[in-house]
Amino acid sequence: MIKLNTIAKSYNSAPVLSGVTLEIPSNIIYGIIGKSGAGKSTLVRIMSLLESTDSGEIYFDDKRVDNLRGNALLERRRKLGMIFQNFNLFLSRNVYGNIAYPLEISGVDKAEIKGRVEELLELVGLSDKIESPISKLSGGQKQRVAIARALAVRPEILFCDEATSALDPQTTTSILTLIKNIQTQMNLTVVMITHQMEVVREICDFVSVLDEGEIVESGTVKDVFAFPRTKVAREFLGSIKPIDGDDILEIEPSLAHIYRLHFLGESTKKPVISEFIKQSPVNINILSGTIRTVGEVPIGELVVEMEGSAPNIEIAKRWLADRDVKMEALDA
Ligand code: ADP
Repeated sequence: MIKLNTIAKSYNSAPVLSGVTLEIPSNIIYGIIGKSGAGKSTLVRIMSLLESTDSGEIYFDDKRVDNLRGNALLERRRKLGMIFQNFNLFLSRNVYGNIAYPLEISGVDKAEIKGRVEELLELVGLSDKIESPISKLSGGQKQRVAIARALAVRPEILFCDEATSALDPQTTTSILTLIKNIQTQMNLTVVMITHQMEVVREICDFVSVLDEGEIVESGTVKDVFAFPRTKVAREFLGSIKPIDGDDILEIEPSLAHIYRLHFLGESTKKPVISEFIKQSPVNINILSGTIRTVGEVPIGELVVEMEGSAPNIEIAKRWLADRDVKMEALDA
């Protein structure tokens, strides 16, 4: 368990994190999502003990770690794995040399290093690249090497800072699948820092939304996707790109009041909309629709145009709410 208690950090008197309190349970993938400038990288540098806080405490499994100094800090840091958007590999070393590096500085003997590097390369599917120079690898292969290097010291926590942001969608999916498999196999706690809701949706169990240096929303991915409470979470959900398995229906929009209807669980399977159209006092035109599956739960969204008086729109809203469908104005 990682516990952050009212972490604050400023640069040149400008607050970047203002009282971040967070509990990340062990053995899960925890997403922290936020827009550019929200403070994500600062938070991950602080959590991974690369940077100090101005105030607040950090605990790993109830042991305070933000106050460690000198060798104790170095030792603790070595047990943390980290991967980055730009891979941060040594270009002067080949694949073997990169993965061997953290073991060399920990004083592991040569024969043991060789065995461990081979094992790690098999794990990330790159056994045939052991002697390759880094410059000859694709982005996805570089990130696999970075993952192998991060895992070399058998960390308990793996921090991923925008790990898939520089990759194309297909490579992103393969890297996320690898991270998920490794997390399960090694009982790792994975903290994914990202601005991509697709990443959260694909592999995270829990998510927190960071906005202007504060955690504004946290919950299981299912709950946050189904009922986002904050505007910033809704914006992220609105920007999500559909992936295979989503049912997409696109109809040319026209001008009117536009609403997004959120359906959750059973309400996605019921003919709520056809009943609504039959008895509703407002005219309704469907603009687009999606059904996503998050975990086992189907989550439906319809973007509709509604025409009617304000009282009738209110009646429609209540009628839908009674059937577990939430109505959100998009053009208000
Ligand atoms: P994110 O990763 O969400 O984009 P960052 O943590 O990188 O956000 O940055 C948040 C804010 O803190 C930005 O305004 C950035 O300019 C500032 N910042 C981050 N690191 C430093 C630093 N080392 N020195 C000064 N300002 C910084």
